[in-house]
Amino acid sequence: MKRTVIANGTVAAPYGVFRAHVVIEGERVVALADDDGALTGADEVVDADGLHVLPGAVDPHVHYEDLGHAEREDYATGTMAAAAGGITTIVEHPLTIPLPITAQAFAEKRDRVRELAVVDFGLWGALTRPSLPEIPGEWREGARGFKAFMPFSEPEYPNVDDAELLAGMEIVAGLDGLVLVHAENDAMMRANHARLQADGRRDPLAHHEGRPPLVEEEAVHRAIFLAQQAGVRLQVVHVSSPVSAELVAGAKARAQRVTMEVCSHHLLLDLDDLVRLGPYGRCAPALRDRALVERLWDHVLSGNADCLISDHAPYTREEKEPGWEDIFAAPLGLQNIQETVPAVLSEALHVRGMPLDAFVRFASTNAARIVGLFPRKGTILPGSDADIVLWDLDAEWTVDSASQQFSKNPWSPFDGRTVRGRVVRTLVRGETVYVDGEIRVEPGHGRFLPGAGALVPAAAS
Ligand SMILES: [Zn+2]
Repeated sequence: MKRTVIANGTVAAPYGVFRAHVVIEGERVVALADDDGALTGADEVVDADGLHVLPGAVDPHVHYEDLGHAEREDYATGTMAAAAGGITTIVEHPLTIPLPITAQAFAEKRDRVRELAVVDFGLWGALTRPSLPEIPGEWREGARGFKAFMPFSEPEYPNVDDAELLAGMEIVAGLDGLVLVHAENDAMMRANHARLQADGRRDPLAHHEGRPPLVEEEAVHRAIFLAQQAGVRLQVVHVSSPVSAELVAGAKARAQRVTMEVCSHHLLLDLDDLVRLGPYGRCAPALRDRALVERLWDHVLSGNADCLISDHAPYTREEKEPGWEDIFAAPLGLQNIQETVPAVLSEALHVRGMPLDAFVRFASTNAARIVGLFPRKGTILPGSDADIVLWDLDAEWTVDSASQQFSKNPWSPFDGRTVRGRVVRTLVRGETVYVDGEIRVEPGHGRFLPGAGALVPAAAS
């Protein structure tokens, strides 16, 4: 078995930051050592002197839209961008076509990702009206949880009404699975949009006015209540408002099993950026004003915001450009997976003073726990997968998607931003996937991570 030692680095694990050699045999970490005897007999020594050694980030909220819209991104380009951005595990959302709302469609999608991914991956199943009877089947095919949209989002993926959401939660509770909810109030959003369109509003801020914080906060409140009734574990995806985050904190204080995600763009961009970026800043929930962004950071620094996510949603420029004339013509979503972790790390560590081990929990460990992958993922311990990222935490660089991104149609809402902290090398299960600006493995290196209900044994995947 190949023995690799990452030598002389500073390990940043969820349980502390310390100097150590990391010893890898095959795909797993076997030891953390402080003496140079660990170097003897190594097949490969990676010198990490001056670098930090972090567990790979776990991004539980990614859209690649391959199957249906491979012109936007595919599982190869999308996971290469993830690896270059320090992410070693992704969980992809079910907005692919044909919709993975049957067990068979879910299995076909899983098999396609398996051929192309370069990082490890899980898949969320669908919680929609037509997929309710299929939830147990998707669970057996390896879905790790089920995603519901409370508001209208895409014509192909029906949003749930309250009765459907509750019914789905009860089914998932019976499996002891996870429900993920995109929480926005559909009726309020539709009424706002009708008013704005009657007023002839097409400017970027009209997008924010159609989906103000209350639209999210009310739905988060309702989702938490329904999840409590159903007794199901709930992840509130992409929380943009500190009021929503307070609702999650309140539920946690009552010992309800509720967790939350925050996006890089909700932490780093605000309404001035929405005006500047136009269609390239249109996402749901919308970007928020600076005062709310600051209060959202409080939840990151306190640890209440569990997971950092990209909510990577790739679109071509041709799809986004019409949004300059009419913001509502631009599809919802931002392409950002390669910059998400470095850009937020830069701000968290160097501007806001977040301790490095707390950042590791935010970007990696908590998501691994919520998704059900800890301690295989999300930490550096003997027995963990050797999913490791070497960081130069002080290197400064400027985001220039055209020359940097592996995404199929490079653009980024962070273009032009100065970032302090650079991914030097990314290993997935002991293998170097990314180093020096290059991908070093073939598509298919990534492995499917089936959920607890899977009939497919992990070894066969
Ligand atoms: Zn999303």
